[in-house]
Amino acid sequence: MRFLTTSVLALGLAVGLGLAAPAGGAGRQVDATATRPLPLAGRTVVLDPGHNPGNAGHRAEINAFVDVGNGRKPCNTTGTATADGYREADFTLDLARRVRTLLLAEGARVVLTHDGDRPWGPCVTERAAIGNRAGADALVALHADGAAAAGYGFHVILPALVVAGAADTRPIVGPSRRLGLALRASFAAATGEPYATYLGGGSGLMVRSDLGGLNLSKVPAVFVECGNMHNTADAARLSAAVWREDAAHGVALGITAFLTAGT
Ligand code: ZN
Repeated sequence: MRFLTTSVLALGLAVGLGLAAPAGGAGRQVDATATRPLPLAGRTVVLDPGHNPGNAGHRAEINAFVDVGNGRKPCNTTGTATADGYREADFTLDLARRVRTLLLAEGARVVLTHDGDRPWGPCVTERAAIGNRAGADALVALHADGAAAAGYGFHVILPALVVAGAADTRPIVGPSRRLGLALRASFAAATGEPYATYLGGGSGLMVRSDLGGLNLSKVPAVFVECGNMHNTADAARLSAAVWREDAAHGVALGITAFLTAGT
């Protein structure tokens, strides 16, 4: 039932946003979309898959401290994993690639901060710098949480107001919040995943000042914590390719909604 419901929802959202109809679907809609400019033409999206599957083998490099404006933090971390050993770093890279496919079809230029093309990292500072250098219209970092096992659900992390050292989030707090709200709505609709039960007062939102990827961003930026890998039910969902495809649609639709709002 969940799959049917979310598929219908995703289709409704997709048609509304001009995404191509599925094969065998309404052919006239496919023809119509082919004659319209793609909704994300000329827009740049940076996707930041949290961690790196190789980080665990490069402890010295990822434990080196970097300056995130209001403090110093490790360059990167290994991330979490499910009880069955499915690593967050593998999850985030798979999800980012799925989102990229969907956004490319919408006409966006898509940059990944890493794509299985480097042995570790990048550092959180470099992740932000990649978004800044790309002149991204939106940066979305993808993660899954490793919280106490009883908690479940997803949440979106928004940048706090931070003005310290190299960090100045004043220009991005507002647009990042709009991006985060769009993602919260689309992710919930596409996956059926509830807002996290274990933080944020059940709002599905957190505002944080300790994340270098947000502190140092000059472009609208949020993190999506897609579920709790330590929770049995969430772990099963995150481990399933069909769920990750739903999640990818949720992320892509949220980015598209943010970038096309008011147009
Ligand atoms: Zn993470």
